Amino acid sequence: MRRRGSPASAPSFASNLTSFLFCQNPSSVKLGRNVLCWCGSGKKYKRCHLDRESEMRPNPWEIAEKIRTEFSWKTCLHPQAGSHTCNGPSIRAHTIRRAADLARIARRGHVYYVAPDFQTLNRTGGKAEPRLVGINRASTFTGFCARHDSALFAPLETDEFRCTPEQAHRLLYRPVAHELYKKIAQQRSTAVFRDIDRGRDYADQVIVQQWCDHRSLGTDAAIRHLAELKAMLDEELARQQYEKMRALIIDLDRTPDVLCAGVTQPDFSFDGVLLQDLSDTIRPALSVGFNILATSTGGMVVFVWHSEMGGPARRLLDSLIRLPVQEIPHAAIRFAFENFENLYLRPEWWEGLGRQHRERLTERMMSIVPFPARLEDDGMRAIAWQVMGLYELHDGILRPLSSTLASV
Ligand SMILES: [Zn+2]
Ligand SMILES: [Zn+2]
Repeated sequence: MRRRGSPASAPSFASNLTSFLFCQNPSSVKLGRNVLCWCGSGKKYKRCHLDRESEMRPNPWEIAEKIRTEFSWKTCLHPQAGSHTCNGPSIRAHTIRRAADLARIARRGHVYYVAPDFQTLNRTGGKAEPRLVGINRASTFTGFCARHDSALFAPLETDEFRCTPEQAHRLLYRPVAHELYKKIAQQRSTAVFRDIDRGRDYADQVIVQQWCDHRSLGTDAAIRHLAELKAMLDEELARQQYEKMRALIIDLDRTPDVLCAGVTQPDFSFDGVLLQDLSDTIRPALSVGFNILATSTGGMVVFVWHSEMGGPARRLLDSLIRLPVQEIPHAAIRFAFENFENLYLRPEWWEGLGRQHRERLTERMMSIVPFPARLEDDGMRAIAWQVMGLYELHDGILRPLSSTLASV
């Protein structure tokens, strides 16, 4: 007997295809209990989706908790990680420097964090709403053991930032490791999401499973690409040769109100030109690292990339430096809010912004601004940062870019 809500037909199964082909009324073809389930889980239908509609709906908070657990898995992503080389369990490794950056913008040890959690999304109906977090936890992930974290990132944590090739390497390495860690967590959490169709009808089950398939495909492609990029950076780390690192540095007159560390695959330039087609999951997307950090004299916005993955990054930054120099920090803010969750805000600055500014920035966080115009000037001026100079790191040498800028 066909169970209520179970799919009458599933043309994805060889065992049913022949009957489907010759049947006048394909929807009457029954799915065998012992065939592989239509959802692609690899389990038999009877052990997977057969009774799904009559199962109990999962508690959303339990699901949220399971997903949170997947996103705090522990590992050490150092290339020499192993039971003999790692020192203890993985620690909460900062992706934005705690003392040099976060402490500088904190108010009583706290900064605003923009990315929404489940509670916020539930309360606001899907809107982001920045909340205060302590700087000890801000920007951390359990992706390195204590020994490897401090050895690997010493050039950023202990030396003054001057964008040496080695520092540029670490400025890309850390967000790449962080992003890889998050994508692996995302892949693990897809299995949790596959369960949310329990107690729902067949049409909803199909929607949920297709959404998971789509998510999984995109995540797989991202993991492949990030692992490839990380392998390249690991190799340079082993040789301690960093001449292939490229960076564009925007030197600021003051400590930035926004700190950021991330890596992204840019799809459109600041003037709305397509840089690469991100729907192509076969060809690797090319990445650019992005950091806003504090220095002893003010701050820096640093775009950093690897010369072998440089095309879109170069074109993105060409469109940035063509802007009038006073507009560049505003463009950097659009880029930060458009692309990154790993974003921390000076409390006084955020609270002092007008409501309209705050709303527009959080809308950017939720990718509401339509592309290709996402990075184009929307007229918003939320910061007062002045550019003191522009520099380029190329072939191991840091040079001023001001001659190029003088002509624009
Ligand atoms: Zn199934
Ligand atoms: Zn380790």
